[in-house]
Amino acid sequence: MASPDWDPSTWRTKPIKQAPSYPDPSKLTSAVSELARMPPIVHPNEIQRLKAHLRDVAAGKAFLLQGGDCAELFDYCEQGAIESKIKLLLQMSLVLIWGSNKRIVRIGRMAGQYAKPRSSPTEVVDGREIPSFRGDILNGFHVDERELDPQRLVKAYHYSAATLNYIRSSISSGIADLHRPLDWGLGHVRDPALKEKYSAIATSIQQTLRFLQVINSRQTGLESVEFFTSHEGLLLEYEQALTRLLEKPAAPTHPESSGSASPVADAPPTTTGPQREYYDTSAHFIWIGDRTRQIDHAHVEFFRGIANPIGVKVGPTTPIDDLLALLRTLNPDREPGKITLITRYGAKRVRDLLPQHIRAVEGSEYHRCVVWQCDPMHGNTVSTPAGIKTRRFNDIYAELQDTLRIHKEEGSYLGGVHLELTGDAVTECLGGSECLAEDDLSTNYTSFCDPRLNEKQALELAFLVADHLSH
Ligand code: PEP
Ligand code: MN
Repeated sequence: MASPDWDPSTWRTKPIKQAPSYPDPSKLTSAVSELARMPPIVHPNEIQRLKAHLRDVAAGKAFLLQGGDCAELFDYCEQGAIESKIKLLLQMSLVLIWGSNKRIVRIGRMAGQYAKPRSSPTEVVDGREIPSFRGDILNGFHVDERELDPQRLVKAYHYSAATLNYIRSSISSGIADLHRPLDWGLGHVRDPALKEKYSAIATSIQQTLRFLQVINSRQTGLESVEFFTSHEGLLLEYEQALTRLLEKPAAPTHPESSGSASPVADAPPTTTGPQREYYDTSAHFIWIGDRTRQIDHAHVEFFRGIANPIGVKVGPTTPIDDLLALLRTLNPDREPGKITLITRYGAKRVRDLLPQHIRAVEGSEYHRCVVWQCDPMHGNTVSTPAGIKTRRFNDIYAELQDTLRIHKEEGSYLGGVHLELTGDAVTECLGGSECLAEDDLSTNYTSFCDPRLNEKQALELAFLVADHLSH
């Protein structure tokens, strides 16, 4: 529960990184008041359900798959783009179920991932220094749209709501119905051994699905799934406006979960009527980025008061002491699954850095309390000699594989992966079974921020992780 010295605006009393400076503050005020009267985008019931799922992840009973674009654009609010991303995440989750024998919790970096932290406030384009692109919620990518525009906050709300509306309607209309045949598209896999491995997994999944259909007709629960949304909670003006004091739902129940260790379910009956909590209703899950997790700064102050499950990026610049201080500030009640630590060190550094972070957390009062999630993307960004930002598939897999091994060695549980991906056939990351080379990058490089795994690379990563988990 939020402490009495907190409200959704107390972050304003703290120093802040990556804060926008709007040219006309009165326009900001009117945009924010427009947002503040809009209905929540997500409901506390859903937020609590996700929290219950993440509690299971922390306990090693489920696995978390989180993925989507680095920078979601308003333009991605379009039927095809939304469907292809959901289908990809669902297909990946099926592969991961096969490998892990666990339920998969799915969270999209979707329906709100519009704000980007930048290392420099300006960049040089065609010899001209202009403000950097900071994500569609702040300014536009086009060089003539770089001035910050507060009306974009309101647009972001509408695009989030429209995206989530289509996610919900696709799912309730059967986009996830596994009675339909799936296209595993393995034609591009050139290495015969890998092709055999992936085909064996795909065949095994198909056979299991057919078997379930035969024995249980249409009551397999395969027609529908749960899907949650997330974004980096960077722009606190937006997050504050959508943070509401709402009634805490009764103990969440979800059919597949044991529900036994629920702090909600175990709470003593209250005599004072329903309890109310602050929910950030912009998404089910939001996270603090690598550049804004300073313990005494505004983002941590904001995040410590909301009831949502939250993530914290952890990397080479996170001192051990900060990690524990963050957990104590953000989760003083030690709710299991409340915090997801999203580790992103890079393939070369993970061996040096992850074990000490695991020992610090698991050796403290937060033992078995956090979700450990691997983000193998953000520590592995490189530039080609031609200056194109990319990532090597092999580095991404290497960090993920090492992270899995290290958790096993340390006796902790890697509970999830956090990926930048798209359902489209982009050419932004090098390698994978299609063997994308530097010369191929220009074929279909469409990201406005970090390079994403394309649909084949993302599915391949799921196959590799599933294969690893199954042994
Ligand atoms: C991101 O997730 O897109 C991002 C900016 O990551 P990080 O904060 O870890 O650098
Ligand atoms: Mn990114």
